[in-house]
Amino acid sequence: MATIQQDRDALERLIDKSSNIVFFGGAGVSTESGIPDFRSKDGLYHQKYLYDPEIILSHAFFEKYPAEFYRFYRDKMLVLDKKPNPCHYYLAELEKKGKLKAIVTQNIDGLHQMAGSKNVLELHGSIHRNHCLSCYHFFDAGFVKNAPDIVPHCPYCGGIIKPDVVLYGEQIDDRSVVFTAKALLDADLLIICGTSLQVYPAATLLKLYNKKDIVYINSDPKSTYDRASLVIHHKAGVLFGGMKA
Ligand code: NAD
Repeated sequence: MATIQQDRDALERLIDKSSNIVFFGGAGVSTESGIPDFRSKDGLYHQKYLYDPEIILSHAFFEKYPAEFYRFYRDKMLVLDKKPNPCHYYLAELEKKGKLKAIVTQNIDGLHQMAGSKNVLELHGSIHRNHCLSCYHFFDAGFVKNAPDIVPHCPYCGGIIKPDVVLYGEQIDDRSVVFTAKALLDADLLIICGTSLQVYPAATLLKLYNKKDIVYINSDPKSTYDRASLVIHHKAGVLFGGMKA
């Protein structure tokens, strides 16, 4: 098995020769910021809840049991005190250098933007955008967090406020899909990081990338991606923390 420095060197060689890089990330990018993912051993699937996160975070559940949804969402997803880690900061620098053209993320935590990244395509939405389901008034995450009732209501019309996160059973918005498709078609290096690639259609979109260089980074030594030309089994923050963009 390669040492972490050998992996960094191999990754740097690929980054050096590329000019149009796309980073495709998942929950594993934010675990070192203290936000649990879904599927690794400390992830949300392995914690005790009455229902699986996939059930709670579904459109049907939100409609039927908004208070139960918000109890979980406030506790586990509406995290406003977390900070970016070295992976987020490295990517922001790589974008400033003009090499990284897009971050496609399945995360909803907004940490890439907090680190300074600009072109972030949020396939599953963001906790930082919320709308009243009746009058479509916008609310930030702080408003939802501080709402007096467990289910936040619109102060203008009394409607229920829903986070702009794509729940299971909901469509990813067309704009993110189109921009992601374009970024992948134009890219000459694809870095996939911290995702189990089990959530569709996000994972399917990767098939649009048709060049040869694909880096797959996952801390789970059993996890792999058959199209990858370089597989790295280290924590993303530790890996990128030892690199300079
Ligand atoms: P997942 O939980 O299915 O998979 C995470 C993967 O990351 C696992 O394979 C794990 O081995 C790996 N991983 C964990 N820590 C890592 C690290 N430090 N470095 C590298 N790899 C690491 O997550 P997913 O594929 O993104 O799909 C889950 C869905 O849940 C997504 O839709 C996402 O929106 C949502 N989610 C988001 C957040 C967030 O916004 N931070 C957190 C939990 C879940």
